[in-house]
Amino acid sequence: GRTLPQLLEEAAAQYPERVALSFLGATTTYRALLDDARRLANALRKMGVQPGDRVSIMLPNCPQFVVSFYGALMAGATVVNTSPMYTPHELQHQLADSGSETLIMLDAFYPRYEQIRDSVPVRRVLVTGIQDALPFPKNVLYPVKARREGRWVQVKIEGQTLPLRAVLRSQAPAAPDATVSPDDVALLQYTGGTTGVPKGAMLTHRNLVANCEQARAWMTDLRGGQEVTLAAIPFFHVYGMTVAMNLSVLIGATIALVPNPRDIKMVLGEISRSGATLFPGVPTLYNAINNHPDTPRHNLTSIRACISGSAPLLLETARRFREITHGANLVEGYGLTEASPITHTNPIFGEQKVGSIGLPMPGVDAIVVDEQGQTVAPGEVGELWVAGPMVMKGYWGRPDETAQTLAQAHGLTWLKTGDMAVMDEGGFFRIVDRKKDLIIAGGFNIYPREVEEVLMMHPAVLEAAAVGVPDEYRGESVHAVVALKPGQQVSDKELMAHCRTELSPYKVPRSVEFRDELPKTAAMKILRRQLAQDARERLQ
Ligand code: ATP
Repeated sequence: GRTLPQLLEEAAAQYPERVALSFLGATTTYRALLDDARRLANALRKMGVQPGDRVSIMLPNCPQFVVSFYGALMAGATVVNTSPMYTPHELQHQLADSGSETLIMLDAFYPRYEQIRDSVPVRRVLVTGIQDALPFPKNVLYPVKARREGRWVQVKIEGQTLPLRAVLRSQAPAAPDATVSPDDVALLQYTGGTTGVPKGAMLTHRNLVANCEQARAWMTDLRGGQEVTLAAIPFFHVYGMTVAMNLSVLIGATIALVPNPRDIKMVLGEISRSGATLFPGVPTLYNAINNHPDTPRHNLTSIRACISGSAPLLLETARRFREITHGANLVEGYGLTEASPITHTNPIFGEQKVGSIGLPMPGVDAIVVDEQGQTVAPGEVGELWVAGPMVMKGYWGRPDETAQTLAQAHGLTWLKTGDMAVMDEGGFFRIVDRKKDLIIAGGFNIYPREVEEVLMMHPAVLEAAAVGVPDEYRGESVHAVVALKPGQQVSDKELMAHCRTELSPYKVPRSVEFRDELPKTAAMKILRRQLAQDARERLQ
């Protein structure tokens, strides 16, 4: 029953001088972080922000993100996480759908907002530049810059567009006057968008704090005030927000911020520099580190615990990562936006099951059900449903979608995950695939993940996706899209032959496409749906 601002207040009381944020060499203590968050909350209140108002944050991982997030919450507002990768069209949809009147953004993204400013409810914009977080002389107000038509130009500060830095300076760090309650909606987290139109999941303070507590209970040996979390996964995605940011605040960890997770050199440099002990990540990131030419030059042995989520973790990726870190505990977990997000994790200590997402975390109920909502026997495939204190309140302004996604049964509110899963006799769960990504070839069901795992077993393959494309005889057939490791070569025929040795004939890809890199979401998840669409368009 606590709120997120309470977590920060407690960390600042318990560890005032501990470094809370470390960013490209600049540091902020927990006391200073709390002060800045309060300054922002006071400024937002003075500007007219009321409890429940939506404040959109469009920033990469940087100190201003953490200040903005906690500051907006302390003002009683609901944060709307906004992906820096959004196009003007996507930004317009989210600002309008959420009814955000306040937007806090990086100067470099400003031109995208300018294109749609007349069609969104935004009334005030606070702009900040990366340099605001760096240790420049304190009395200099840096010009806010943005890139327009390939050139850096100064953003005109006019009307309701203000520099965040000046706004913070104008306020005292007194405790804000807003009351924040555990059941207030803390966050509108728009679903990843890998399927359909993004919808805003309403997550309350209670939901988000519960998920941090569940993760702490699971990881048993987290040392208060001593851990260093490598925050490479983005905070604007719910996974990074909970595991890299809020969990760190809960345990008084130093958060080592990496603004661009695609820059593996930067990620490696930050691990060595910060002596990171915790490294939550996603399979594509661990895989990229495993295969980067600079990796052998870095000491990664400080890392001791890693949770991999958001997509299947392949055995080989985990094995190699443990090898290069000299034994970091890398375990697979599972979650989704609507569950704040983690619901399952393999035990950090004790038996792990390869290829499994592990056990439901403390306080999570999980069942596997058939089309009628009846639980199926262990070993049988069905849809995974979860219940617990981390399950969202519903989708913002979409009662029909909420009713389709949340179900009442056995006295609990269940979240229908849309993922097909199996539970074994020991209570370990395995994700078979997404219900919506199923490929149906000649009446046979094919889960793309199975094909992808076989493609990834080939030594030349770096990344792989399997998608369904129209097929005159079978209805659909499997099309593979692969990216090869640097300097490797293999033909489509060879890859198909490799698949034939491992898969039944109907699952073998009928066509293979090579790309330098596979397209990914901001959370670094491979965009299977976009690849499927590209392939279909080309075949037409
Ligand atoms: P959208 O909901 O709009 O399609 P998204 O699926 O990317 O976007 P998220 O909430 O970010 O939305 O991701 C949750 C999904 O990620 C899960 O439903 C599941 O399909 C997948 N996922 C998460 N962890 C794992 C895992 N360990 N193994 C397999 N799949 C996973």
